[in-house]
Amino acid sequence: MSTSTMTITEREERAREILAHEGLQFERNNEPGSKGYTIIQPSGLRYDRSIEDLESTASIIMEDTGTCCICGGTYYTGGNNPEPVMPLNDGENRCCRTCDRNIVIPARLREPVSA
Ligand SMILES: [Zn+2]
Repeated sequence: MSTSTMTITEREERAREILAHEGLQFERNNEPGSKGYTIIQPSGLRYDRSIEDLESTASIIMEDTGTCCICGGTYYTGGNNPEPVMPLNDGENRCCRTCDRNIVIPARLREPVSA
């Protein structure tokens, strides 16, 4: 569906659903000088964005999707390196953001650091 035939609410809802895959949230910002929305990163950082900005971020998220090698779910934005939980396998293996956060990063933190 072309964005020109969608209402602003439909555009917001579509962007909201896609941005949530990467843990991004946004809210309307009606303050003078705002582009219209505040996007909130998982870290809590906030940025002033327009609806077009939100949609271009959404299209980047949807550009490179695949199947997570750990949970079998969908990864977005190219996924994450699954090592050491799974071998990279020449870049064939990618994992989703949830597995990266809950499984891969904790596994890396437990690994001895090699010099
Ligand atoms: Zn996963």
